[in-house]
Amino acid sequence: MIDGFLPLLGICIALLAMILLVVAFCQRCEVCGSLLFGFSANKGFNQTLAEAYRVCKFCGHQKVTGTVAADGSVFWFAGGVDSGGGGGE
Ligand SMILES: [Zn+2]
Repeated sequence: MIDGFLPLLGICIALLAMILLVVAFCQRCEVCGSLLFGFSANKGFNQTLAEAYRVCKFCGHQKVTGTVAADGSVFWFAGGVDSGGGGGE
């Protein structure tokens, strides 16, 4: 029956939205409070300091969120690896 399915779907979507909001709130920009910081921040790298960071699109705040390996690979604290910026694929 579709009658029982639709409310369940609505609850699932609401739960997902809430989780996204909580995640966004936890990862918000410390300076301007932008909730988009966790999702759409620019990525920056500092090879000298071996640091990778997110750059707020609104205020330019930089938050270190990963490390850069000697070969240029980026290891994000949150998980995931970006392979070196210079190499081709
Ligand atoms: Zn900001």
